[in-house]
Amino acid sequence: MSAFRRTKIIFTLGPATESEAMLEKLILAGADIIRLNMAHAKHDWTRTVIRRIRAVSQRAGREVAIMMDIKGPEIRTGDLDVPIELKAGEIFDFTVKPGSGSSSEEVRSVDVNYKDLVSDIQVGDTVLVDNGLLRLEVLAKNEARIRCRVLIPGPLSSRRHINLPGVKVNLPSFTEKDRRDAMVGLEEGIDFLALSFVRMARDVEGLREFLNLHKSKVRIIAKIEDQSAITNLDEIVSACDGLMVARGDLGIECPFEELPVIQRRAVRACLAQGRPVIVATHMLESMIGQPVPTRAEITDVANAVYELADCVMLSGETTIGKYPLECVQMLDKISRRIEAEDGDGEREVAVFTGDRMKMLHSAVVLANEIPHSKILTFTRHGFMANGLAALRPVHSPVFAFTPFLELARQLRLLRAIEPFVMPFASDPDASIENAITILKQAGRVAAGDKLIVATDIVSQDRLVDSVQLRTVR
Ligand code: PGA
Ligand code: MN
Repeated sequence: MSAFRRTKIIFTLGPATESEAMLEKLILAGADIIRLNMAHAKHDWTRTVIRRIRAVSQRAGREVAIMMDIKGPEIRTGDLDVPIELKAGEIFDFTVKPGSGSSSEEVRSVDVNYKDLVSDIQVGDTVLVDNGLLRLEVLAKNEARIRCRVLIPGPLSSRRHINLPGVKVNLPSFTEKDRRDAMVGLEEGIDFLALSFVRMARDVEGLREFLNLHKSKVRIIAKIEDQSAITNLDEIVSACDGLMVARGDLGIECPFEELPVIQRRAVRACLAQGRPVIVATHMLESMIGQPVPTRAEITDVANAVYELADCVMLSGETTIGKYPLECVQMLDKISRRIEAEDGDGEREVAVFTGDRMKMLHSAVVLANEIPHSKILTFTRHGFMANGLAALRPVHSPVFAFTPFLELARQLRLLRAIEPFVMPFASDPDASIENAITILKQAGRVAAGDKLIVATDIVSQDRLVDSVQLRTVR
């Protein structure tokens, strides 16, 4: 077991986890980022829980980050008063104009939030509902609805997600609803915006323009969920601040046997460009109802750690699951164990150009060669911390000190980084001493520990990048 967990834990907030008491338990258990899924969240709830997370974090003495996940061009069914049980062979309608369902009551129907559905889809295409659990085939269409036959039956409840594999969906990447949701997030001071169904770099750039317009420093997580995202992977990685391998939708939009290949490619693409990457969805799915995961799930989490992903993520496990705390503990335990394997995973990390990155590289080389060493850095814009995390130190944790709480929270995304907030002294040497004092008090370092310090120091009135090796006194 390693003493420090390098892989970060994200969990999605929901009825199972929104209480103050549960939030506190999860934050103390080591959750790093809390995700709000705006496909389901109302604005007053969103504001309430963001404030609650901040208050609980402060009380617990551990500031977690908040990621607002906006649904993007996601297709969902509308509200239903009661769930419908779809039967095999049944004829069923998806309507694009409210109230256009069959009045004969013979054909049941549900609304869909995608007005161009009828023009973009072809007779013979497949409609998958609720993460592929229900499968229908398109038989006919008119201007108000598509008529389908149920191939794989099951229950249909409100606001279920629809996938149209292979159909080029022409919905805007940042919708009116996304804009309204994001505004609430900006007002409440969220740390990350995750954009769903990113199909090209332009989608990320559009959101970036919106954030710049509002003078926001919120970081953008691009969720890759369909085939176009895979085609444009490198440009998306380059445009975003972090990538999410959204395996829920990817596994439906792409042939399922491609999924492990895509995951590995995406994680490697991020490592190569020094971008943080999140592996998401179904990591501990069976723990929604059971207190222990399947062996396959344990191995799946381990695989993400071996691949050197920055974060692993929980969704249904912590929104509606019966064992949210156990799920976070499970991710914590598996990550620590796998990280303790010597030379875990592959380390084909980025080769960066630029003198500053080369200096950080030398700090990581030094840390890798000194057993039990730890890295200490100071960062105002996150550059140093980002660089060190991207270089994937083999065993050393990276303690990143910053004067800014907002940046400290954003650093929670990065593998191996533990952020601390501390005002910087005018003399960098004093800052180093202050940081070591804080680390000692927090039990992170002890006398005799080797510290590799990457920071700029003042030398004859000039700031000079430096790498130092110190022993804690
Ligand atoms: P979602 O995204 O939970 O918002 O659908 C994650 C995924 O598709 O895996
Ligand atoms: Mn999704």
